[in-house]
Parts: sequence; structure tokens; C-alpha cells
Amino acid sequence: MLHVVDAPLVARAPAKVNLHLAVGALRKDGYHELTTVYQALSLHDEITVRAADSIAISVRGEGADDVPLGSTNLVWQAAELMAEKAGHGKRGPRASIAITKGIPVAGGLAGGSADAAATLVALNELWQLELSRSELLELAARLGSDVPFSLSGGTSVGVGRGEQLLPVLSRNTYHWVLAFAKGGLSTPAVYRELDRLRAVGAPPRIGAADDLMHALAAGDARQLAPLLGNDLQAAAVTLMPALRRTLRAGTDAGALAAIVSGSGPTCAFLCADEDDAINVSVEVSSTGVCRTVRTATGPVPGARLVTAPHPR
Ligand code: ATP
Repeated sequence: MLHVVDAPLVARAPAKVNLHLAVGALRKDGYHELTTVYQALSLHDEITVRAADSIAISVRGEGADDVPLGSTNLVWQAAELMAEKAGHGKRGPRASIAITKGIPVAGGLAGGSADAAATLVALNELWQLELSRSELLELAARLGSDVPFSLSGGTSVGVGRGEQLLPVLSRNTYHWVLAFAKGGLSTPAVYRELDRLRAVGAPPRIGAADDLMHALAAGDARQLAPLLGNDLQAAAVTLMPALRRTLRAGTDAGALAAIVSGSGPTCAFLCADEDDAINVSVEVSSTGVCRTVRTATGPVPGARLVTAPHPR
């Protein structure tokens, strides 16, 4: 009989920005071959888990009305994988799971992946499963391409679908401004749009990440800024042309660089320091080009408990 923790447990998981997102060939399994450099951001979601007779999911916070409460929620799927490990049998996962969203839904910041990673960490503790980090990473990869990174955090290169991670030497903290769009973009739709753009022309590709790696090792935001790149940006901007104005507003306000984050539509502005980030956020906000603006720093750790673990 496994021991179950009685008190609620809270885990936090970070949003991510892709500093480099090179999209390669379409694979037979429908995914594209990726080379990406992820950075975990201080913007985060929180997951609170409690022992219960059956699974129940609740959501509040940023974009809560757009988050599914049933089995399509990545949190539910994470709980099912953990319940198999816990031997919960046919009745399924026995936990109530409350999601507090800080990360916009369908924003290109991997919010659903963050929630899944936090759920793995929280249920590992609630059900005292003692799964190792590498076992959790294996479950994470089954849940989605970005979930392993949400678990590990920091700065990493991701290859394959993005789920095979290698750590990157990264010095210093970077200061970001994030512009949340009015509405979201579907990740599959953005990839389809890129395939379409590539079929009718040759949109520019971002190339190799070697110089970007050197800039990260040097810890120099000014050196890093011109090296940020995202092959999905053209597709995201085609689907949501208003992003052009948002990106311009960021650079006009003094950001070192402006990129679409992942599949968008969130735009990420790299700033020289904290003061510049505050100035850029105020100025971008005043232009009215986006729904909301937030500042964030990175890198930060991956999914982790923020309440004290149960004494063993
Ligand atoms: P990525 O950058 O990894 O492609 P994203 O940040 O663009 O993801 P998410 O916020 O993860 O997008 O949401 C994508 C879709 O996943 C949503 O439209 C929603 O229907 C579904 N979804 C499932 N679980 C969650 C969750 N816990 N939080 C948010 N969306 C979820």
C-alpha cells in the first residue's frame, strides 16, 4: 500500500521561450525535425494537488475559460500516467488538481506542457512514488514535445521533436518583455502554414546555432540579440498579421531584439537590463498593440515543488 500525503502540494512550472527554433523536414510521424534552444522563464503556472476519490480538474487565472477540464487537458494525461505507476486501477487517478494559469493559453510559451510537468512532480510527491528524474523525463516525453524541457528548465538544446535535451552553458540572467496577443494560435496550424509557405517559395531559414551558443556562454545580451531566430515566425505573422506591429513596437521601445515565441502569438522582447525591460513594457503597453504585457527573467529552474515536501 503506497503512502499518500494528506496536505495539498503546490508545484510550479515555467513558461519557455525558444531563443533559436530551426524547423527541418517533416517526418513520417507528422512531426518536424527540430533544433531548438529553449530558455525557461520566470512567468509560470502553479498546480495544487490533493488526495481525492477520483480525478477533478479546476482552472483559474490567465485564459482559464479556454482550458479544457477533461481528458484532453495535459494535466489529466499526466495524472493518468502517474496513476498507472501508482496502481490506481480502473477508477483512474485519485487526485483533485487545481491549475493557476499565469501563462497565456495557446500562446507559444508551452503553458500546457508546464502544467503537465508540474503535475508529474506534484503527484510523484503526493503519492510518494519516488520516481527518479530520468523516469519523470521519460513520462514527460510521452506527454508532449515541450514537456521534458518544462521539467528540466534552465537553458537547453532540444532535438528530435524538441524532447531530446542537452544542457547549454549559459551565463547571466536575461530580461524579457512578453506581449500577450488578443487570441491564440494553434501550434499544428502554424506548422501547416510554414509547410505551405515552403511549398510556394523559400522563406529564409535561421541556420545553425553555434554563434548563439557562444553568446549564451559569454552571457552577453547584446551579443545574443541579433542571433535570436525562429523559423515559425513568418508563418505565425502570416496567420496573425497584427504581430508585425507588435514586434515593431518592441524594437521601437528600445528592446535589443523582438521575436515571436515558438508558434506564437506571444512576442518576446530581449532587453539590456531590468530598467530597460520596465521601460519597454510601459511603452509597448501604451501603444495598445497587444492585450497585456509582462516582464520575465530567464533562465529559471524547471518544474518543482514550492511547498515543503512531506518528511519521510
Ligand atoms: P506550445 O508552445 O507547447 O505549442 P502553447 O503554449 O502554444 O503550446 P498551450 O497553452 O499549451 O499552447 O495550449 C495549447 C492547447 O492545448 C490549448 O488550446 C488547449 O486546448 C490545450 N490544453 C490542454 N491542456 C492545457 C493546459 N493545462 N493549459 C492550457 N491549454 C491546455
